[in-house]
Amino acid sequence: MTSIYDDTHELFRQSVRAFIADAMVPHYDDWERAGIMDRSVYAAAGEHGFVGFNAPESHGGGGSTDFRFNAIISEELASAGIGGAGLGLTLHNDITVPYFVEYCTDDQRDRWMPGIASGEVVTAIAMTEPGTGSDLRGIATTAVRDGDEYVVNGSKTFITNGINSDLVITVVRTGEDGQGMSLLVLERGMPGFERGRNLDKVGQHSADTAELFFSDVRVPATNLLGEEGRAFEYLTFNLAQERLSIGVYGLAVAEAALAWTVEYVTERTAFGSRLASFQNTKFELAEIATEIAVTRPFMEQCIIELNAGTLSASKAAQAKLWGTELQGRVTDRCLQMFGGYGYTSEYPISRAWADARVTRIYGGTSEIMKTIIAKDVLA
Ligand SMILES: Cc1cc2nc3c(=O)[nH]c(=O)nc-3n(C[C@H](O)[C@H](O)[C@H](O)COP(=O)(O)OP(=O)(O)OC[C@H]3O[C@@H](n4cnc5c(N)ncnc54)[C@H](O)[C@@H]3O)c2cc1C
Repeated sequence: MTSIYDDTHELFRQSVRAFIADAMVPHYDDWERAGIMDRSVYAAAGEHGFVGFNAPESHGGGGSTDFRFNAIISEELASAGIGGAGLGLTLHNDITVPYFVEYCTDDQRDRWMPGIASGEVVTAIAMTEPGTGSDLRGIATTAVRDGDEYVVNGSKTFITNGINSDLVITVVRTGEDGQGMSLLVLERGMPGFERGRNLDKVGQHSADTAELFFSDVRVPATNLLGEEGRAFEYLTFNLAQERLSIGVYGLAVAEAALAWTVEYVTERTAFGSRLASFQNTKFELAEIATEIAVTRPFMEQCIIELNAGTLSASKAAQAKLWGTELQGRVTDRCLQMFGGYGYTSEYPISRAWADARVTRIYGGTSEIMKTIIAKDVLA
């Protein structure tokens, strides 16, 4: 099969791999224990061009619109077995930066983009609230216009980079009747903007996931991203990339899990034979390898369509649904082949399994993906 990656991508891959090995892997256990990745990683990655490569060159970025580079970072994080730490980086690159690239005014671009591109400014996106996740129209956080400012009240939860972030794209209710939805950028240190708990999760421990509270936060109207009342349209457009990003990562984890398992079953013996010699092991590996082989061309096709601006919301939902369900199935089946060792933190498969559980939930649950796909099927 022809690869979608050329020599430039492969050179980029080698540098990303070296960066992850030097700057991330040695600290991963500490971050997992601390429940947060050291935020200096963003700037270090920025120095190597691994964050902000999608930001405009005029503001210190790489000016790339090629999602293959984003996909390579996900693949390398997955293969190193440190997806939890990588989540913050991929969220910044794949999910939040595109909003800033697309919707910033010239003034906002001058204020925010250099820091975003260098990794000195860390970003987050806050949609989910304690009372609503899947149903975005149910959000209750309000931003009431008062002269040149908005006064923001409400709260968000489950926000990735919630602790580390400096700029938070926040979905708020706006307009006379509060029926409009807008994107407002809240900045670290604004009075009334408080961080709550860094949530204790089943997996992805080194990704900080936090509650945010807003009490009469006065936000300059110049922090409105895009036009007032158009958040739903902006979110719908950008969620395609977010969902593809999660799907691509799911496939990458499945591929990594297969590679770790092949190595393990080739070495480990039981009843005087290698695990790899049992028919069950062979059949498990054959099925997993087949699922992965069938998935890869679809995911790569989605990447090409995203680059061309033709990836539909429905196809992006299929990529997320399939990629993350595959990730869940494969990490579970692979863990089984490790026996008890697969349940210990000595082997990356255990973390990959625990980290995988949430990918069917965040970025829109599998059930919500199915409703999006079904709408298209029945159209
Ligand atoms: C680790 C982590 C990181 C996250 N990061 C972010 C982030 O950075 N920013 C952010 O805004 N959010 C984030 N989230 C929130 C995440 O996107 C939501 O948890 C998710 O969208 C589901 O919302 P909910 O938890 O409110 O579940 P609910 O919406 O309450 O859903 C509960 C169950 O009901 C099902 N359900 C709901 N509606 C329907 C329907 N119409 N048809 C069928 N089934 C339905 C769901 O599929 C699910 O199984 C994160 C969550 C986690 C756990």
